[in-house]
Formats: sequence, C-alpha cells, structure tokens
Amino acid sequence: MKNIIIVGAGLAGSYMAYAMGKKGYRVQVFEKRPDPRKSNYGSGRSINLVVSHRGWTALKYAGIEQDIREIVVPAYGRQIHDLEGNESYFAYNIEGKAIHSISRSEFNRKLVELAEALPNVTITFDSNCHHVDFNKGIVQMQQGEQSNTYTADLIVGADGTGSSVRGALMKQPRFNFSQEFIDSGYKEVHIPATQDGLPQLNIDALHIWPRQEFMLMGLANMDNGFTGTVFAPFDGEFGLDNLPKGEDGIRYFQKYFKDAIPLIPNLAEQWESNPTSALACIRCNPYHWGTNTMLIGDAAHATVPFYGEGMNGSLEDVRVFLELLDEYGHSNMKKLLEKYTELRVPAGNALVDLSLRNFIEMRDLVADPKFQLRKKIERKVQSNHPDKWTPLYTLVKFTNIPYQQAKEEGERQDEIMEQILAMEGIEECWDSDKVEQEVLRRL
Ligand SMILES: Cc1cc2nc3c(=O)[nH]c(=O)nc-3n(C[C@H](O)[C@H](O)[C@H](O)COP(=O)(O)OP(=O)(O)OC[C@H]3O[C@@H](n4cnc5c(N)ncnc54)[C@H](O)[C@@H]3O)c2cc1C
Repeated sequence: MKNIIIVGAGLAGSYMAYAMGKKGYRVQVFEKRPDPRKSNYGSGRSINLVVSHRGWTALKYAGIEQDIREIVVPAYGRQIHDLEGNESYFAYNIEGKAIHSISRSEFNRKLVELAEALPNVTITFDSNCHHVDFNKGIVQMQQGEQSNTYTADLIVGADGTGSSVRGALMKQPRFNFSQEFIDSGYKEVHIPATQDGLPQLNIDALHIWPRQEFMLMGLANMDNGFTGTVFAPFDGEFGLDNLPKGEDGIRYFQKYFKDAIPLIPNLAEQWESNPTSALACIRCNPYHWGTNTMLIGDAAHATVPFYGEGMNGSLEDVRVFLELLDEYGHSNMKKLLEKYTELRVPAGNALVDLSLRNFIEMRDLVADPKFQLRKKIERKVQSNHPDKWTPLYTLVKFTNIPYQQAKEEGERQDEIMEQILAMEGIEECWDSDKVEQEVLRRL
C-alpha cells in the first residue's frame, strides 16, 4: 500500500491524513468545501465540541496532543439551571478530571495545517467526490468544471453523514445501512463574554437548562463566550418548527430559560437568523469493502450529539486502525480491514445507543431528584470502592473501554440502582453503610 486517498478533510479525515503521513504513506485528501484558512469553515454547524479521553488518546498516538491542548477550555462538571433560575453544580468525577471544549473550526484548521505541513500529504479543496469504483481503486472528483479521476491503494470515506463513499458501498449486496432522524433538532445562540472580556457563566462548567422534553446547553469558548444550543422537538406548541420568528424565540426563552435572556443581547435576531438543524443516527455494516475501501467517523456512524462523543469516536476509529496497521502491517489488507470492521461496528452501534440514552439523561433526568440521589449514591460507592464501581459517564468520557462494554456495564448498573432506589426510606438512608453494602452485594 503506497497511495491513500481520503475523501473529506473534516476532523477524522484530516487527523488520519496527518497520522498516515507521519507513517510515511503518500496521502491525498480531497475536500468538497473551500480551504478553511480562506473561509468560515464551520458555518452553520456547531461552533464548539467536547474533546474527551478517547480524543486525547488518538491525538497523543499521533504526537499532536500538545498542539491541541493549547486551544481548549476545560469543563469540570455540569452546572444545572432550573426554571426558577437556581443553579447547582455536579462534578463529572471524583478525581476532578475535565472534558475540554474546543472550537470546531479552529480544531479542523489546526489538523489541516499539521497534515499539509508533511511533504507526503496533499489536501485539495473544492473537490467533490461524485463517483467511487473500488474494484478499480478509483475516485472521481468534480473540481470546478472538470471531473478528474484519481487512483489509490486505499480509499478512505471520511466524508461525514452524507458520505459519497458509503453511497457507493450501499450499491453492493449485503451492505447494511440504516438512518434514523430523531424528532428533535437544534438551534445555536451565542452567549458573548462581557465588555471586559469576562465570562457571564461559570467558565469551568458545561451548563444545562434541562426542561424534560427539551434543553438549553452552554459550552465555553476560548474568548470566554459560550455557545448555547437549544435541543428541542420540531413539533408542538413550543416546537422549533413553530417558533420561526425572533419574537417567538423571546417568548420561548421567557417561559423556559428566563435567566439566560440577559446573557444574550441580540437573542431575537440570532433566533430568527440562525438555522434549525436536524439530527440523525446512521449505522452501517461492514465499515470496509474488499482490500481497499474503508469508512471512518460520521460516514460510518453518525450520531446525535448528546454524549459529545461523535468526533471522539471518529478519532478512535482512526487510532484503532493505525494500531492494527502497526500490528499486522499492510501486506494483508483483507485481514486488517476485516479486523477493523470487527472492532469498530459494535463500537459505532454502541456509540449511537449511548448518545440516544444521554439525551434523556441531559434534558430530563438531571433535573429529577431520584436521578440526583442515584448520582450521590454512585459517587459514594465509587469513592470508597473505585475498583468496583465506575459510573457509565466516566467509562465513556474518561476511559478507552470499548463503547459496547461501557454500554453493557451501564445497563448492569441501571438494574442495580433501580433496586437500590426502590428500597424503603432510601431518601433518608442513602448515605448509610447499609446502602453501600447493598450495592456491593449486587455487583
Ligand atoms: C450540534 C453538534 C454538536 C456536536 N458536539 C460534539 C462534541 O461535543 N463532541 C464530539 O465528539 N462530537 C460532537 N459532535 C459530532 C461531531 O461533529 C462529528 O462526529 C464529527 O464532526 C465527525 O467527523 P467526520 O470527520 O467524520 O465528519 P465531518 O466533520 O462532517 O467531516 C466530513 C468532511 O467531508 C467533507 N465532504 C462531504 N462530502 C464530500 C464529498 N462528496 N467529497 C469531498 N468531501 C466531502 C465535508 O465537507 C467535511 O469537511 C457534534 C455534532 C453536532 C451536530
């Protein structure tokens, strides 16, 4: 394997280009959008993302962890804003570890720059992949008026949710694919820093205004501003489809997120002009074809953003592939790619399941007293017996345990905690040794 073509210079594609370039492969990347350094790359999409342990592990593997650490803002816990404007803070874990917020466009730009600095990597923008023939190992790119053909030993589909490479695979027999839109979407609003450049919210936290069917979330930016995102159903009286005007947005915020209104000076304007976007989950199987084609990232497993793991899982795809390449070499690509599919399809499916599950937790459960009680009990058991109890959130965000194993463990913990929360008088005795012993007995 000498030449690699990566379709898509998003987060997964540009990361893979860098990492494969570092290994000495000749990498050509084709990206349909213009060069991010000459345009507003992230326009219309989430301005910032959360990097978690899996993301860091991948970046570390490629030797670029420090480059990215310079452009992140840590969040150590969730700050919950209730309907009355009261706030409560919950640390993410007992060790004080953080997740990190990063600007999507800055992250992408940095990865593109790092990849392009390698002499054996080229990135060509304004190149729309419109045809893939994996039997011949060719991709066709629409570049301006021309359609040009390129050949490769390995074709990587890193072209996101609407992947053209996956589109070609879908024409093959026995290639499985499913896409499901959830009935909620999202709209972003920017919460600026004060005129003195200070944050208007606790900068150390991810902020949530949970309102059961919907929520507002705030993630910090490097400039002390926050990206606010409303996740809500499209339908219903306060559905996003029924709130098109700026004044509708104000009415909605007055009813449900009143304390956030003073933080957003031009709320009506932003509400009306910022797009409302849909959210879909994509699953497919396999993640490869024959000996020369593979999918990574959202092209393989797009998911709803409620665990903040889509990009982390995408970087993990690449890291796992690179480690397989280290182990097997590239002389037997069939075996290598089969192994990649074997490891990553269950992980991708579990990532989708976990993300759907966390939507319920974020919008609904975090405001539920029973859920908060459960968290308190879990925290106590974890701090006294860290070897026996690791909460699901920690498994997903702060370890590299395969997503499917984390999911299984989470289900086991659900069963145990359901029984514990059903104990008589649990509200009064949750802190007792007896409750702790009951948890341990069920493990
Ligand atoms: C609101 C929201 C919030 C999110 N928050 C988080 C978070 O906090 N943490 C997290 O880990 N994940 C988060 N995600 C998920 C994350 O954005 C994705 O999982 C991640 O961007 C996937 O990276 P990717 O490179 O696979 O795809 P993309 O980033 O979508 O990149 C695909 C690239 O391929 C290009 N392309 C597409 N078609 C073609 C073509 N035909 N030819 C050439 N190029 C093409 C595109 O222009 C694009 O540059 C969030 C997603 C959303 C929607």
